[in-house]
Amino acid sequence: MSSYVLLGLATLHGVHAWGVLGHATIAYIAQNYVTAETASWAQGVLNDTSSSYLASIASFADQFRATAAGAWSAPLHFIDAEDNPPTTCNVNFTRDCGTAGCVVSAIANYTQRSGDGRLTAANTAEALKFLVHFVGDVTQPLHDEAFELGGNDIPVHFMGFNDNLHSDWDTFMPEELIGGSSLADAQSWANTLIAEIDSGTFESQKASWIAGDNTANALTTATRWASDANAFVCTVVMPQGAAALTAMPDLFPTYYNAVIGTIELQIAKGGYRLGNWLNMVFEKEVAREGHWRRV
Ligand SMILES: [Zn+2]
Repeated sequence: MSSYVLLGLATLHGVHAWGVLGHATIAYIAQNYVTAETASWAQGVLNDTSSSYLASIASFADQFRATAAGAWSAPLHFIDAEDNPPTTCNVNFTRDCGTAGCVVSAIANYTQRSGDGRLTAANTAEALKFLVHFVGDVTQPLHDEAFELGGNDIPVHFMGFNDNLHSDWDTFMPEELIGGSSLADAQSWANTLIAEIDSGTFESQKASWIAGDNTANALTTATRWASDANAFVCTVVMPQGAAALTAMPDLFPTYYNAVIGTIELQIAKGGYRLGNWLNMVFEKEVAREGHWRRV
């Protein structure tokens, strides 16, 4: 039903990156890896001491961009890598980040603003909301790709619906895996992925996910995150090209089964990175500068 209803909004829907489920799951994973001090700081900034303080605001940026006042922020949800999948995939910040900004520059900007104690409480809260969202966005491979508007213009069939490839990656394939998009669904998925990070499939990889991450070099770090996700466009998202996907009678089950593991990887990675990143914002910026006293 939801796929059908959203057909008419495909362009709007498709460019939002991970849907509500993906963003909330990333946020819950991050909540698991922040220190008690980071959590207390973030809860103060967001004025929310609930157990969903990051998950509740994880899709704020998608709601905001849909308003007239927030239309300026639309380019901040992606970076249009002008590469040539599936032959070549790469991200070049100078080439690919438009003059209106992109997800890489936005992560750098809102990292700085989140830790800048000179901002008003409202502006600090806005910065943290943007940061939580964009660190999630950048892990979605099709948000680091210009080809066919990040896959928005690649028509495909999934579970009997006429979709576009981007929205299937954002929303419909994750929801097929989990069976819903509520905060409870997101918490459940997060718990599964946290177990994989701590002592399962991802345990041996997690150190590499955050290797070199540094809030003092946020632009470099975010560019590396975008490059990491963009590589999957060539290897996983469309290894045989876009036409091969459009020609498939349905992406389920063959394509879905081939890519769902990468979706889980990217959600887990985004959450783990976000938790580590927020710890750095707090420890290197907020606590060091004494801004913490103000909250
Ligand atoms: Zn987004």
